[in-house]
Amino acid sequence: MLVYETKLKGTKDQYEKLDDAIRTGKFVRNSIIRAWIDGGIKSKNDTYKYCKTLSDNPDFPWVNKLNSMARQAHAERAWTAINRFYSNCKAKIKGKKGYPKFKTFQVRATVEYKTSGWKLSEDRRYITFTDKFKAGRFKLSPNGDATRRGSRDLHFYQLNQIKRVRVVRRHDGYYAQFLIDHIREEEKELTGQQIGLDVGLNHFYTDSFGNKVDNPRFLRKDEKRIKKLQRRLSKKNKGGKNRAKARNRLGRAHLKVSRRRNDWVCKLAQRVIQSNDLVAIENLKVCNMVKNHKLAKSINDASWYAFREWLQYFGTIYGVPVIAVEPKYTSQNCSNCDEKVVKALSTRTHKCHHCGYVADRDENAAINILKIAKKQLSNTVGHTEIKANGRERPLFDWGNSIK
Ligand SMILES: [Zn+2]
Repeated sequence: MLVYETKLKGTKDQYEKLDDAIRTGKFVRNSIIRAWIDGGIKSKNDTYKYCKTLSDNPDFPWVNKLNSMARQAHAERAWTAINRFYSNCKAKIKGKKGYPKFKTFQVRATVEYKTSGWKLSEDRRYITFTDKFKAGRFKLSPNGDATRRGSRDLHFYQLNQIKRVRVVRRHDGYYAQFLIDHIREEEKELTGQQIGLDVGLNHFYTDSFGNKVDNPRFLRKDEKRIKKLQRRLSKKNKGGKNRAKARNRLGRAHLKVSRRRNDWVCKLAQRVIQSNDLVAIENLKVCNMVKNHKLAKSINDASWYAFREWLQYFGTIYGVPVIAVEPKYTSQNCSNCDEKVVKALSTRTHKCHHCGYVADRDENAAINILKIAKKQLSNTVGHTEIKANGRERPLFDWGNSIK
């Protein structure tokens, strides 16, 4: 799948109708979660049946206004949340199992259409929403998001390749995302080089050859700007107009920052994949990341998470395995003789008193990561462990991921 995104240009009145559609999608999803909690839903099929019940109910006239396949799409979302909870319980994962929650109002929200309820104009420059919300015709204008630039435009694809259309509301407007059924594959010559990457706060990463890639300077600047806007927001009176404005400004700043960052990590990931035949990284726990309250750390983590997603994406396209390993002991063990060499966080150099090997601390860790990955790979040959095939392109909506 491929995603093509453009901004939707319409009138205030039209945007309000999109808001109604978004609210209805959320209503369908929440109602199904409610029915599931009450024991009325046991299968995916039940969710579809419940959709029908909702749209037939005269107490909820708005449900019937939303395109029927869009209603189903939101029922499917609810079912995905329920299913995820079940499989987490089954897998006996530690901690929270992700009990399905009700969605509350957020600026960043979406409504999803499948193959009906919308229509593209002949020249593919306009989209019309045709369900009973009557949002009407919007002009499509590519927003210039750098990572999406250069992707071919809608003309390139057949209409029947467009599997879904998602309307996304963000702090700076309304967007349409077209999910296109298309598998991208690129040729790549073998380079004979394998690489391990170690994450750090001092450097974005250190590779197993000892090269360091630093965080771009703009990240620091962005961090400062966001801090400033956060302070301003906290000074505004609750419920006031100025507060809403300040919140919007902060939301826009987050969006801008995330697009810039995403652009940077996207290019970096592509370069790494193109110049290596195997990429080994640490398996970082995302759930631990998101909870962090420190801004610098959360920005860094978000970059890392995005970087990893892009590595996996390009890995699939170029046929390069990307292997995530458990970060246990990677910084302590000696990459030369495998003996444990305990060191404090502040010790920047790895000096092995067993074999005499000396290396930069992060480089030593990166080599270990690569070693573990190779071992893992040789154990799983013949399996489809690197199952990135056919994966969706990573698509980030950072507006809300960092709070
Ligand atoms: Zn050693």
